Amino acid sequence: MSTLEIRDLQVSIDTEQGNKPILKGVDLTIKQGEIHAVMGPNGSGKSTLAYTIAGHPRYKVDGGSIKLDGEEVLDMTVDQRAKAGLFLAMQYPVEIPGVTVANFLRTAKTALDGEAPALRTWVKDLRSHMADLKMDSSFAERNVNEGFSGGEKKRHEIMQLELLKPKFAILDETDSGLDVDALKIVSEGVNRAHSSTDLGILMITHYTRILRYIRPDFVHVFVDGHVAEQGGPELADQLENEGYDRYVAASAAAG
Ligand code: ADP
Ligand code: MG
Ligand code: MG
Repeated sequence: MSTLEIRDLQVSIDTEQGNKPILKGVDLTIKQGEIHAVMGPNGSGKSTLAYTIAGHPRYKVDGGSIKLDGEEVLDMTVDQRAKAGLFLAMQYPVEIPGVTVANFLRTAKTALDGEAPALRTWVKDLRSHMADLKMDSSFAERNVNEGFSGGEKKRHEIMQLELLKPKFAILDETDSGLDVDALKIVSEGVNRAHSSTDLGILMITHYTRILRYIRPDFVHVFVDGHVAEQGGPELADQLENEGYDRYVAASAAAG
């Protein structure tokens, strides 16, 4: 069983006003098969954590480590991270003109596995995942992300999860911009990927809504670039009722 271990992670970005520290010592360990929710107010650094795991060049790591089964992820290229089993929704370009969803997924799968999937089972898999996600079969022939609605982008992400079978998925605001029906379909896809492949999930979300459909094993409250509190699913219920005010006030008082 694999483990993703984030230790004392410190990350800053260069802005016009100079270097700005954003992550101030993040500790978080995820085992395969676990679902972790990272929740916190806007601007607390949640996306910065996701981008840093993804290897986005904008984010400068000042200290700490991210280890996947003892291997330093921070030393890996973006491609190596994907090959090692990390699924990072933001690693792919926003739009890929002239590349269909079907070709994109097959190319990604081939790159990850080092060999092309057998055509017959591949087409069957693709069709069945699309049907599960209530997507029309014509979707496979559309260009990646070109004119995709918010919901289609998310479903495409979940399709990647189900077909590429990573060990860990980092999902940043998967719930944003989805109506309730789309949210249910996308959540079911995440739950399927979780149970069929023992996927470990780091689910980043500002709102508690998605946690009604995807039940986390662990909840981490993120405030001002670090984990302010950790708990079980009951912590999500508490946040739903009380919001983040208490944590923000405590963080401000601590300076
Ligand atoms: P969250 O996802 O929790 O809302 P972010 O990680 O997006 O938080 O942002 C954390 C802080 O870092 C914010 O103050 C934000 O303004 C700043 N920040 C993040 N990315 C950038 C960037 N590319 N340029 C300037 N500031 C940024
Ligand atoms: Mg589980
Ligand atoms: Mg964010």
